[in-house]
Amino acid sequence: MPESVVIIGAGQAGAQAVQSLRAEGFDGPITMVGDEAYPPYQRPPLSKAYLLGTFERPRLFLKADSYYAETGCELLLGTSAKAIHRAERTVELSDGRKLAYDKLLLTTGARVRKLKCPGADLPGIHYLKTIADVDGLQEAFQPGKRIAIVGGGYIGLEVAAVGAKRGLDVTVFEAMDRLMARAVSPQLSSFYAAEHEKAGVKLKLRTGVEAFEGNGKVERIIAGGQRYDTDIVLVGIGVVPCDELATHAGLASEDGIVVDQNARTGDPHIWAAGDCTRHVGREGHSLRLECVQNAIDQAKHAALAMVGKHKTYSEVPWFWSDQYDLKLQIAGLARPSDRLVLRGDPASRKFAVFHLRDGAVAAVEAVNAAPEYLMGKKWVGEGKKIAPQMLADTSVPMKQMA
Ligand SMILES: Cc1cc2nc3c(=O)[nH]c(=O)nc-3n(C[C@H](O)[C@H](O)[C@H](O)COP(=O)(O)OP(=O)(O)OC[C@H]3O[C@@H](n4cnc5c(N)ncnc54)[C@H](O)[C@@H]3O)c2cc1C
Repeated sequence: MPESVVIIGAGQAGAQAVQSLRAEGFDGPITMVGDEAYPPYQRPPLSKAYLLGTFERPRLFLKADSYYAETGCELLLGTSAKAIHRAERTVELSDGRKLAYDKLLLTTGARVRKLKCPGADLPGIHYLKTIADVDGLQEAFQPGKRIAIVGGGYIGLEVAAVGAKRGLDVTVFEAMDRLMARAVSPQLSSFYAAEHEKAGVKLKLRTGVEAFEGNGKVERIIAGGQRYDTDIVLVGIGVVPCDELATHAGLASEDGIVVDQNARTGDPHIWAAGDCTRHVGREGHSLRLECVQNAIDQAKHAALAMVGKHKTYSEVPWFWSDQYDLKLQIAGLARPSDRLVLRGDPASRKFAVFHLRDGAVAAVEAVNAAPEYLMGKKWVGEGKKIAPQMLADTSVPMKQMA
């Protein structure tokens, strides 16, 4: 009998694992269990073009409907895994069934962090993670409506940009003193703050949310000691890894299921990939990444390891965000102590910020600047040293510097 693989979580990493297992020649049975109603889909458009209405639902799906049957992957949708019994190598499902596995892959992703304050359960307070969430938001997300967005991170700002474009009256409440503070340099935060304000978005920085009020639905948000009337609220304050299945089965989790460089957990029969994991990154630090790149690359490494082809995971992390007509692309992981080098003029809406560490390119943030992003990403991988003056000199093309 060929060995069997069970994948828990039908998302970005799960779909990639199916594809990679087959590409690597695995010909045993694969079963993928997903608690959503849909086969694996991409989430990035949810807060961008899909919310805007310019991206059709069928395009969200990562594979054609026929793909799973054609590749011999049984999809169990609308079904959640309730427990892993490691000794007998089975997974217990919500419908009472038990699935036996030889190899198990956890791709359970992350769930939205919920606000815990008075009124946080009022109808009209939305989160954005799934197709169902966008569907739930769409009806109220109409021109002229007031939307209060809690959280000035990627999701909140992407929704703010779409809201402004669609003619909503948008206010963003952010507890920190700048936008996307966890993810980008102060230069980028200032640039994006100006762009949002130009589009009519009101920004309330250093303004933590204290409560919501309303009669049967949300009508007001109380933040920074003031009351603001609103029609809808969208909360985007981060995610927490779905690691309960793993921890209940006795696997280690430290705010993310702990995996090694081959995406394997402490159990030789169990791997994990994507948002639910924590691993030691290429710079030797423990990381939990929430991005498509990590979901894809870690799933590939898990699939390789499952078929006995071990390859150390040390990819350069990369990420993107679309706000208005601005494409932000980031590669590498910045640190506050990095030396920053600006290339290009932010006023031209096409520029990059390079992060140098010990003279080498450690990260790049590029706005509408694909060559800087692509070359920067390569340099991060190589640890390339470049003189800051040359990097800042736009008269020297990127290609020439390479
Ligand atoms: C609105 C939005 C915009 C984003 N934009 C970007 C972007 O621009 N760029 C970028 O790089 N990343 C972006 N991301 C992040 C990116 O989508 C995630 O990093 C990626 O989806 C992670 O893939 P995953 O497979 O780990 O998890 P997911 O794709 O979330 O899949 C996990 C699946 O497992 C299911 N599941 C969990 N527990 C169980 C269980 N017990 N039984 C069965 N099923 C279970 C979940 O319901 C989910 O369907 C965005 C995310 C969101 C929500």
